[in-house]
Amino acid sequence: MRENWHDRFAEAPGCLKNARRQRTAVPVLDFEVGGGEFVTMAGPCSVETEFQLMATANHVRRAGGRILRGGAFKPRSSPYSFQGLGLEGLKMLARARQESGLAIVTEVMSEEDVPMVAEYADILQIGTRNMENYPLLEAAARSGRPVLLKRGMVATMAEWLRSAQLILDNGNPNVILCERGIRTFETAMRNTFDVAAIALLKQISHLPVIADPSHAAGHSELVPALARIAVAAGADGVIVEVHPNPAKAWSDGEQSLDFAAFDEMMAELEPWLAVRDRGGASRRKLRGSQREAAQLRTMEAVG
Ligand code: PEP
Ligand code: MN
Repeated sequence: MRENWHDRFAEAPGCLKNARRQRTAVPVLDFEVGGGEFVTMAGPCSVETEFQLMATANHVRRAGGRILRGGAFKPRSSPYSFQGLGLEGLKMLARARQESGLAIVTEVMSEEDVPMVAEYADILQIGTRNMENYPLLEAAARSGRPVLLKRGMVATMAEWLRSAQLILDNGNPNVILCERGIRTFETAMRNTFDVAAIALLKQISHLPVIADPSHAAGHSELVPALARIAVAAGADGVIVEVHPNPAKAWSDGEQSLDFAAFDEMMAELEPWLAVRDRGGASRRKLRGSQREAAQLRTMEAVG
Protein backbone atom coordinates (compact mmCIF):
# COMPACT_ATOMS: atom_id res chain seq x y z
CA MET A 1 0.00 0.00 0.00
CA ARG A 2 1.32 3.46 -0.83
CA GLU A 3 2.49 5.24 2.27
CA ASN A 4 0.42 8.42 1.76
CA TRP A 5 -2.85 6.56 2.50
CA HIS A 6 -1.51 6.03 6.02
CA ASP A 7 -1.18 9.81 6.38
CA ARG A 8 -4.61 10.51 4.94
CA PHE A 9 -6.27 8.00 7.25
CA ALA A 10 -3.98 8.62 10.22
CA GLU A 11 -6.96 8.67 12.62
CA ALA A 12 -8.00 5.16 11.61
CA PRO A 13 -4.83 3.09 11.66
CA GLY A 14 -6.67 -0.02 12.87
CA CYS A 15 -8.89 -0.03 9.76
CA LEU A 16 -5.98 -0.24 7.33
CA LYS A 17 -4.43 -3.38 5.92
CA ASN A 18 -1.08 -4.36 7.33
CA ALA A 19 1.34 -7.22 6.94
CA ARG A 20 -0.60 -9.35 9.42
CA ARG A 21 -4.13 -8.44 8.43
CA GLN A 22 -5.37 -8.30 4.86
CA ARG A 23 -9.02 -9.05 5.47
CA THR A 24 -11.61 -9.19 8.25
CA ALA A 25 -14.42 -11.68 7.76
CA VAL A 26 -17.40 -10.84 9.97
CA PRO A 27 -19.17 -13.95 11.28
CA VAL A 28 -22.96 -13.94 11.00
CA LEU A 29 -24.93 -17.12 11.83
CA ASP A 30 -23.15 -19.82 9.82
CA PHE A 31 -21.56 -17.59 7.18
CA GLU A 32 -19.33 -14.53 6.92
CA VAL A 33 -19.50 -11.06 5.43
CA GLY A 34 -16.18 -10.28 3.80
CA GLY A 35 -15.08 -13.89 3.67
CA GLY A 36 -15.15 -14.23 -0.12
CA GLU A 37 -18.86 -14.96 -0.63
CA PHE A 38 -20.87 -12.05 -2.09
CA VAL A 39 -23.61 -11.48 0.51
CA THR A 40 -27.01 -10.06 -0.39
CA MET A 41 -28.99 -8.29 2.32
CA ALA A 42 -32.50 -7.35 1.25
CA GLY A 43 -35.87 -6.39 2.62
CA PRO A 44 -38.20 -3.48 3.12
CA CYS A 45 -37.09 -0.02 4.17
CA SER A 46 -39.48 -0.26 7.15
CA VAL A 47 -41.07 -3.19 8.87
CA GLU A 48 -44.78 -2.59 8.27
CA THR A 49 -46.91 -5.72 8.70
CA GLU A 50 -46.46 -9.39 9.44
CA PHE A 51 -47.55 -10.26 5.90
CA GLN A 52 -45.24 -7.72 4.25
CA LEU A 53 -42.22 -8.91 6.21
CA MET A 54 -42.81 -12.67 5.98
CA ALA A 55 -43.57 -12.56 2.26
CA THR A 56 -40.40 -10.54 1.67
CA ALA A 57 -38.24 -12.74 3.90
CA ASN A 58 -39.37 -15.92 2.18
CA HIS A 59 -38.81 -14.39 -1.23
CA VAL A 60 -35.36 -13.05 -0.35
CA ARG A 61 -34.29 -16.44 0.95
CA ARG A 62 -35.55 -18.25 -2.15
CA ALA A 63 -33.68 -15.77 -4.36
CA GLY A 64 -30.36 -16.45 -2.57
CA GLY A 65 -30.28 -13.60 -0.06
CA ARG A 66 -28.58 -14.22 3.29
CA ILE A 67 -29.74 -11.33 5.44
CA LEU A 68 -33.12 -9.67 5.91
CA ARG A 69 -33.09 -5.92 6.31
CA GLY A 70 -35.96 -3.86 7.71
CA GLY A 71 -36.16 -0.79 9.91
CA ALA A 72 -38.14 -0.86 13.15
CA PHE A 73 -36.70 2.50 14.20
CA LYS A 74 -36.73 4.89 11.26
CA PRO A 75 -34.64 8.05 11.00
CA ARG A 76 -36.95 9.97 8.68
CA SER A 77 -35.97 13.27 7.10
CA SER A 78 -39.45 14.59 7.85
CA PRO A 79 -40.71 14.46 11.45
CA TYR A 80 -44.21 13.91 10.01
CA SER A 81 -43.27 10.66 8.23
CA PHE A 82 -43.74 7.15 9.63
CA GLN A 83 -41.14 6.62 12.39
CA GLY A 84 -41.22 2.82 12.61
CA LEU A 85 -43.01 0.18 14.69
CA GLY A 86 -40.31 0.01 17.38
CA LEU A 87 -40.35 -3.08 19.59
CA GLU A 88 -43.30 -4.56 17.70
CA GLY A 89 -41.20 -4.36 14.52
CA LEU A 90 -38.24 -6.04 16.20
CA LYS A 91 -40.49 -8.91 17.26
CA MET A 92 -41.71 -9.32 13.70
CA LEU A 93 -38.09 -9.42 12.52
CA ALA A 94 -37.33 -12.14 15.06
CA ARG A 95 -40.26 -14.19 13.74
CA ALA A 96 -39.10 -13.67 10.15
CA ARG A 97 -35.63 -14.83 11.16
CA GLN A 98 -37.08 -17.97 12.70
CA GLU A 99 -39.28 -18.74 9.73
CA SER A 100 -36.79 -17.96 6.95
CA GLY A 101 -33.42 -18.74 8.53
CA LEU A 102 -32.14 -15.36 7.31
CA ALA A 103 -30.00 -13.22 9.61
CA ILE A 104 -31.39 -9.82 10.59
CA VAL A 105 -29.87 -6.39 10.10
CA THR A 106 -31.79 -3.47 11.55
CA GLU A 107 -31.04 0.10 12.50
CA VAL A 108 -30.51 1.31 16.03
CA MET A 109 -30.94 5.04 16.49
CA SER A 110 -30.25 5.70 20.12
CA GLU A 111 -27.82 4.57 22.74
CA GLU A 112 -30.62 3.50 25.12
CA ASP A 113 -32.14 1.20 22.51
CA VAL A 114 -28.92 -0.73 21.85
CA PRO A 115 -29.52 -3.59 24.33
CA MET A 116 -33.07 -4.11 23.06
CA VAL A 117 -32.15 -4.02 19.35
CA ALA A 118 -29.12 -6.24 19.97
CA GLU A 119 -31.41 -8.85 21.49
CA TYR A 120 -33.30 -9.22 18.19
CA ALA A 121 -30.73 -8.37 15.52
CA ASP A 122 -27.72 -10.24 14.19
CA ILE A 123 -26.17 -7.01 12.88
CA LEU A 124 -26.75 -3.49 14.19
CA GLN A 125 -27.11 -0.86 11.48
CA ILE A 126 -25.86 2.64 12.18
CA GLY A 127 -27.59 4.98 9.75
CA THR A 128 -26.11 7.79 7.74
CA ARG A 129 -27.51 10.45 10.08
CA ASN A 130 -25.80 8.84 13.06
CA MET A 131 -22.36 8.05 11.66
CA GLU A 132 -20.74 10.54 14.03
CA ASN A 133 -22.97 9.88 17.04
CA TYR A 134 -20.09 8.63 19.13
CA PRO A 135 -22.03 7.56 22.26
CA LEU A 136 -24.26 5.46 19.97
CA LEU A 137 -21.24 3.97 18.18
CA GLU A 138 -19.62 3.07 21.49
CA ALA A 139 -22.78 1.45 22.81
CA ALA A 140 -23.28 -0.49 19.56
CA ALA A 141 -19.66 -1.63 19.65
CA ARG A 142 -19.97 -2.86 23.22
CA SER A 143 -23.13 -4.85 22.44
CA GLY A 144 -20.83 -7.42 20.85
CA ARG A 145 -22.99 -7.57 17.68
CA PRO A 146 -21.41 -6.87 14.29
CA VAL A 147 -21.97 -3.25 13.26
CA LEU A 148 -22.95 -2.15 9.77
CA LEU A 149 -21.67 1.41 9.59
CA LYS A 150 -23.26 3.50 6.87
CA ARG A 151 -21.31 6.42 5.50
CA GLY A 152 -22.58 9.81 6.62
CA MET A 153 -24.20 11.59 3.71
CA VAL A 154 -21.66 14.41 3.93
CA ALA A 155 -18.78 12.45 5.44
CA THR A 156 -15.34 12.17 3.91
CA MET A 157 -13.78 8.74 3.83
CA ALA A 158 -11.42 9.80 6.62
CA GLU A 159 -14.36 10.78 8.84
CA TRP A 160 -16.13 7.52 8.03
CA LEU A 161 -13.08 5.41 8.89
CA ARG A 162 -12.55 7.44 12.05
CA SER A 163 -16.00 6.28 13.19
CA ALA A 164 -15.12 2.70 12.28
CA GLN A 165 -11.95 3.07 14.33
CA LEU A 166 -14.01 4.09 17.36
CA ILE A 167 -15.96 0.83 17.10
CA LEU A 168 -12.72 -1.17 16.87
CA ASP A 169 -11.31 0.76 19.83
CA ASN A 170 -14.35 -0.25 21.87
CA GLY A 171 -13.44 -3.86 21.49
CA ASN A 172 -15.56 -4.83 18.50
CA PRO A 173 -13.60 -6.01 15.42
CA ASN A 174 -16.75 -6.83 13.41
CA VAL A 175 -17.39 -3.69 11.41
CA ILE A 176 -18.97 -3.71 7.95
CA LEU A 177 -18.65 -0.46 5.99
CA CYS A 178 -21.61 0.54 3.81
CA GLU A 179 -21.37 3.09 0.98
CA ARG A 180 -24.89 4.46 0.48
CA GLY A 181 -24.24 7.56 -1.61
CA ILE A 182 -23.18 11.03 -0.60
CA ARG A 183 -24.69 14.46 -1.09
CA THR A 184 -23.21 16.42 -4.00
CA PHE A 185 -24.43 19.19 -6.32
CA GLU A 186 -26.21 16.54 -8.42
CA THR A 187 -29.90 16.25 -7.60
CA ALA A 188 -31.25 13.89 -10.29
CA MET A 189 -30.50 10.93 -8.07
CA ARG A 190 -31.21 10.86 -4.35
CA ASN A 191 -27.45 10.75 -3.68
CA THR A 192 -24.23 10.32 -5.64
CA PHE A 193 -22.97 6.75 -5.49
CA ASP A 194 -19.28 7.03 -4.60
CA VAL A 195 -18.08 3.86 -6.22
CA ALA A 196 -14.44 4.98 -6.05
CA ALA A 197 -14.74 4.86 -2.28
CA ILE A 198 -15.54 1.15 -2.52
CA ALA A 199 -12.58 0.52 -4.82
CA LEU A 200 -10.23 2.47 -2.55
CA LEU A 201 -11.49 0.83 0.64
CA LYS A 202 -10.96 -2.60 -0.88
CA GLN A 203 -7.35 -1.61 -1.51
CA ILE A 204 -6.53 -0.01 1.80
CA SER A 205 -8.85 -1.51 4.43
CA HIS A 206 -9.22 -5.03 5.76
CA LEU A 207 -12.86 -4.38 6.70
CA PRO A 208 -15.70 -5.74 4.56
CA VAL A 209 -17.38 -3.15 2.34
CA ILE A 210 -20.93 -3.38 1.05
CA ALA A 211 -22.97 -1.09 -1.18
CA ASP A 212 -26.49 0.24 -0.74
CA PRO A 213 -27.63 0.96 -4.30
CA SER A 214 -31.18 1.74 -3.13
CA HIS A 215 -30.37 4.82 -1.04
CA ALA A 216 -27.62 5.83 -3.46
CA ALA A 217 -29.99 5.88 -6.43
CA GLY A 218 -33.35 6.76 -4.93
CA HIS A 219 -35.01 5.24 -8.02
CA SER A 220 -35.70 1.52 -8.30
CA GLU A 221 -34.88 1.34 -12.02
CA LEU A 222 -31.27 2.34 -11.28
CA VAL A 223 -30.70 -0.13 -8.46
CA PRO A 224 -29.66 -3.20 -10.53
CA ALA A 225 -27.07 -1.21 -12.49
CA LEU A 226 -25.55 0.24 -9.32
CA ALA A 227 -25.45 -3.25 -7.79
CA ARG A 228 -23.52 -4.52 -10.81
CA ILE A 229 -21.12 -1.59 -10.51
CA ALA A 230 -20.63 -2.46 -6.84
CA VAL A 231 -19.63 -5.98 -7.86
CA ALA A 232 -17.12 -4.61 -10.35
CA ALA A 233 -15.70 -2.25 -7.70
CA GLY A 234 -15.05 -5.21 -5.40
CA ALA A 235 -17.87 -4.88 -2.85
CA ASP A 236 -18.38 -7.81 -0.48
CA GLY A 237 -22.14 -7.54 -0.79
CA VAL A 238 -25.15 -5.31 -1.25
CA ILE A 239 -28.05 -4.15 0.89
CA VAL A 240 -31.15 -3.58 -1.20
CA GLU A 241 -34.70 -2.44 -0.49
CA VAL A 242 -37.37 -4.92 -1.61
CA HIS A 243 -41.11 -4.68 -1.02
CA PRO A 244 -44.08 -6.84 -2.09
CA ASN A 245 -45.85 -3.71 -3.37
CA PRO A 246 -43.49 -0.71 -3.60
CA ALA A 247 -46.30 1.65 -4.62
CA LYS A 248 -47.90 1.06 -1.20
CA ALA A 249 -44.68 1.10 0.88
CA TRP A 250 -44.79 3.24 4.04
CA SER A 251 -41.27 4.53 3.27
CA ASP A 252 -38.85 4.63 0.32
CA GLY A 253 -41.28 2.95 -2.12
CA GLU A 254 -39.83 4.76 -5.12
CA GLN A 255 -36.45 3.10 -4.63
CA SER A 256 -37.74 -0.34 -3.59
CA LEU A 257 -37.67 -3.30 -5.98
CA ASP A 258 -40.69 -5.56 -6.27
CA PHE A 259 -40.08 -9.30 -6.14
CA ALA A 260 -39.76 -9.74 -9.90
CA ALA A 261 -37.27 -6.87 -10.21
CA PHE A 262 -35.28 -8.28 -7.28
CA ASP A 263 -35.11 -11.71 -8.96
CA GLU A 264 -33.97 -10.06 -12.16
CA MET A 265 -31.28 -8.09 -10.32
CA MET A 266 -30.01 -11.25 -8.64
CA ALA A 267 -29.90 -13.13 -11.95
CA GLU A 268 -28.12 -10.23 -13.64
CA LEU A 269 -25.45 -10.16 -10.94
CA GLU A 270 -24.45 -13.78 -11.56
CA PRO A 271 -22.31 -13.33 -14.68
CA TRP A 272 -20.59 -10.30 -13.13
CA LEU A 273 -19.75 -12.27 -10.02
CA ALA A 274 -18.47 -15.13 -12.17
CA VAL A 275 -16.19 -12.75 -14.08
CA ARG A 276 -14.92 -11.34 -10.80
CA ASP A 277 -14.24 -14.81 -9.39
CA ARG A 278 -12.47 -15.85 -12.60
CA GLY A 279 -10.37 -12.66 -12.36
CA GLY A 280 -9.39 -13.58 -8.80
CA ALA A 281 -8.53 -17.14 -9.82
CA SER A 282 -6.42 -16.02 -12.76
CA ARG A 283 -4.64 -13.43 -10.60
CA ARG A 284 -3.87 -16.19 -8.10
CA LYS A 285 -2.59 -18.35 -10.97
CA LEU A 286 -0.54 -15.44 -12.27
CA ARG A 287 0.92 -14.79 -8.84
CA GLY A 288 1.71 -18.52 -8.59
CA SER A 289 3.50 -18.56 -11.92
CA GLN A 290 5.32 -15.33 -11.06
CA ARG A 291 6.51 -17.03 -7.89
CA GLU A 292 7.66 -20.06 -9.88
CA ALA A 293 9.51 -17.80 -12.33
CA ALA A 294 11.22 -16.01 -9.45
CA GLN A 295 12.23 -19.34 -7.90
CA LEU A 296 13.63 -20.47 -11.26
CA ARG A 297 15.62 -17.26 -11.57
CA THR A 298 16.98 -17.76 -8.03
CA MET A 299 17.92 -21.35 -8.82
CA GLU A 300 19.63 -20.26 -12.00
CA ALA A 301 21.50 -17.50 -10.18
CA VAL A 302 22.58 -19.86 -7.42
CA GLY A 303 23.64 -22.35 -9.68
C1 PEP B 1 -32.29 2.75 5.58
O1 PEP B 1 -31.45 1.85 5.45
O2 PEP B 1 -33.50 2.60 5.40
C2 PEP B 1 -31.79 4.12 5.84
C3 PEP B 1 -32.53 5.01 6.47
O3 PEP B 1 -30.57 4.32 5.33
P1 PEP B 1 -29.58 5.60 5.42
O4 PEP B 1 -29.20 5.71 6.85
O5 PEP B 1 -28.46 5.20 4.52
O6 PEP B 1 -30.35 6.78 4.90
MN1 MN C 1 -34.86 3.33 3.33
